[in-house]
Amino acid sequence: MLGLMMDKPLLISSMLDYAAKYHGGTEIVSRTVEGPIHRYTYAEALARSKRLSQALHRLGIGMGDRVATLAWNGFRHFELYFGVSGMGAVCHMINPRLFEGQISYILNDAEDKVVFADLTFISLLEEIAPAAKSVKAFVIMTDKANMPDTSLPNLYCYETLLDAENGNFDWPLFDENTASSMCYSSGTTGNPKGVLYSHRSTVLHAWAAMTPDMLNISAADAVMPVVPMFHVNAWGIPYAASMAGAKLVMPGAAMDGASIHEMIECEDVTISAGVPTVWLGLLDYLERSGSKVDNFKYCVIGGSAAPRAMSVEMEQKYGVQVLHAWGMTEMSPLGTVNWPKNGMEDETDEARYDRQIKQGRPCYGVDMKIVNDANEALPEDGKAFGELKVRGFWVSSKYYRAEGNIYDADGWFATGDVATIDTDGYMHITDRSKDVIKSGGEWISSIELENIAVGHPGVFEAAVIGVPHPKWDERPLLVVVRNEGSEISAAELLAFYVGKVAKWWIPDDVAFVDRLPHTATGKLLKMDLRATFENYKLPTI
Ligand code: AMP
Repeated sequence: MLGLMMDKPLLISSMLDYAAKYHGGTEIVSRTVEGPIHRYTYAEALARSKRLSQALHRLGIGMGDRVATLAWNGFRHFELYFGVSGMGAVCHMINPRLFEGQISYILNDAEDKVVFADLTFISLLEEIAPAAKSVKAFVIMTDKANMPDTSLPNLYCYETLLDAENGNFDWPLFDENTASSMCYSSGTTGNPKGVLYSHRSTVLHAWAAMTPDMLNISAADAVMPVVPMFHVNAWGIPYAASMAGAKLVMPGAAMDGASIHEMIECEDVTISAGVPTVWLGLLDYLERSGSKVDNFKYCVIGGSAAPRAMSVEMEQKYGVQVLHAWGMTEMSPLGTVNWPKNGMEDETDEARYDRQIKQGRPCYGVDMKIVNDANEALPEDGKAFGELKVRGFWVSSKYYRAEGNIYDADGWFATGDVATIDTDGYMHITDRSKDVIKSGGEWISSIELENIAVGHPGVFEAAVIGVPHPKWDERPLLVVVRNEGSEISAAELLAFYVGKVAKWWIPDDVAFVDRLPHTATGKLLKMDLRATFENYKLPTI
């Protein structure tokens, strides 16, 4: 027997409808690429998103067609999130930080029909346009006055397209399992792989993201996604903020410490989210300028491990609570966030900072386990570590165009991360499976060693990689970028590990470099580092 409840599909358009009706006067504030700060309301965003859908119809876009964006966090990109998906087409966010060849590959693989781009990316588009066979139109996300002089074919101006429409448009109703958007996973090897989200998975993910134990967004908040909208839907924040009716603050292309601070202060941001590098920049700016952050309450950090020292500094100097989060493109992306549980009220500061190094607990909707090489589940005791597997309502089942499912016979997706899970359900990533260091048959966590190194005041950034060793197979090498003015030596750094980890975990040596290589999403590019230090002669050999 079926239940007798309304069968209303979970569609992305419904989130903006809600925001416009019940929070119509709430602002969306953007730092534009053209310069000025732009502000308008959810009500205006809805009206313009509908005009965008009409314009897309006029350009020949229909259900299921892919529409690409190359854009920063801003109000026009927000309209594309809703206008494209709302009409039944697929909004494809491309990461402009990828290599040119990868962007061309992605455009062709997705067969994007229209590309919307910020002014920043004109020359990039000019380079890739000849190879973009499926693209019928390039739309520059600006007004007529700022249209660039460019050789791009089939060129349109965003504002001119919208001006031609009247907004008399009803969102179509369709199956909630319809594809809504796509992102390519930023794998460090091979070609990027397309992850295709559905309306249903996106709405459920946004609903979860809004809850107190995830991003904790309410109508009283001002939320600023510093994580780019081209990196896994800005962790779902544009959707979750609409669903909550929260004020939305978009930082545009300016992600340096001073610009981020200005947006936080001027717009009274209460919650923000981004990768550790962004917060390093903000902390550095606050320290140098002696500035404070008044209303900023929660800083969600993910994408890479948030060092303990960052939690301590954010909280003790600036009164901001760090919430460590973990996720993946294949998970829409949220998997875990680290909030305390009932019964933890009496945690000491030290115990709290120790807990915050962990990536957190899953919310309802995400299930996880750790397994050994034989795919047997390991104990969740906070000690055993193995490959992390997940399943859930917003976990991908298959890559776009690929053969076969990405989950195993029992329905679990192998994340490629190595983790422990403790008795309270807190998951702690120790490595990517390919980055773990194997010394004498035992595993050493590179993330834990990096965390300790960046806790030293003389260290700006650190990476630990395994280098070949004749006796132990691999031994850890610490690669360090010193802080400006610091002259810390290798011996001092190695001494810093004593008493913090087992003796055999302490790196065999330290190499100092000017900068570390990063992927397009800001993760350490360890493959490159391993190649650079392939023939490094450890003093222990
Ligand atoms: P992406 O698909 O680009 O979002 O990358 C997902 C991967 O980033 C995960 O599988 C992890 O390896 C890594 N990652 C994300 N968040 C964290 C975190 N808080 N700590 C450590 N690694 C993380």
